[in-house]
Amino acid sequence: MGQVVLKLTKDKIQEMKSHYKNQLAPSIPQAAVFVAKTPYSTITAYQSGKVLFQGKDPEKEAAQWGLTNTSNTREKITKPVHEFHPPETLFHSSHIGSDEAGTGDYFGPITVAAAYVKKEHVALLKELGVKDSKHLTDEVIRKIAKDILHLDIPYTLLKLNNRKYNQLQAKGWSQGKMKTMLHHHALEKLLEKIQPEHPEGILIDQFSQPNVYKRHLATEGNKLQENVYFMTKAESYSIAVAAGSILARASFVKAMEDISKELRMDIPKGASQKVDRAAAAVISKFGKAKLQDVAKVHFATTQKADKFL
Ligand code: MG
Repeated sequence: MGQVVLKLTKDKIQEMKSHYKNQLAPSIPQAAVFVAKTPYSTITAYQSGKVLFQGKDPEKEAAQWGLTNTSNTREKITKPVHEFHPPETLFHSSHIGSDEAGTGDYFGPITVAAAYVKKEHVALLKELGVKDSKHLTDEVIRKIAKDILHLDIPYTLLKLNNRKYNQLQAKGWSQGKMKTMLHHHALEKLLEKIQPEHPEGILIDQFSQPNVYKRHLATEGNKLQENVYFMTKAESYSIAVAAGSILARASFVKAMEDISKELRMDIPKGASQKVDRAAAAVISKFGKAKLQDVAKVHFATTQKADKFL
């Protein structure tokens, strides 16, 4: 079980105490200011300024307070993960969020979506059930994606098809670089679309260190836009990232259906032995070259499929 220790100011601890006012534990240890229990973590704040998060997902809880780091030792005091960590206020402001889907799946494209959620839409989107797409079934995702499209939520959606993916990969592009450029272009297009409005910030669901992201941009002569932030598990904090995540996932699910229809076979998501077998079936039905159109051929799956031929 992991734990996170933060060192926070007295003011911040008071702010936390009122934030958790409905979850405070009735009794607290000596030298503690408060103890609160959330579904993810037990939080103990000490007079020394030390705040201890323990439980199922302490990072999730700690991340809201601006600083995160997992540690196995009680004494380790954490530093900000990086300078691009978003301020708490961003989540409640009119902001853009972006996320991708399909990166770990052998079959199918990579999709990236960015959504601009205005302050006044946050509550409505929450009501529609917009949240971390990892916790939703494909069916629910598609329904919510439709709802998002019916609202006036500006968004952009990019799809990197397998043929192009494999070309870039053969050219030496890492998947990280592909994702970087997809996010960047999705954001660029969305910023253009919403003009003359400016978001208060842009939050990217972090898939690499911000410096690596910036380096990839530089190799293509691009630069980070203004007020861009990065955070892991961002879809749990930002409704805009959650909306992006749902749109990207819905588009990926649709693409997988299209591939299944085209090949007249059931094409599974992810990467597993089931996927290895499906790859073998595609090879025996259409020949190995067909994989270029429907799969990320550099995955180990391509080799593993041989076992089933
Ligand atoms: Mg993501």
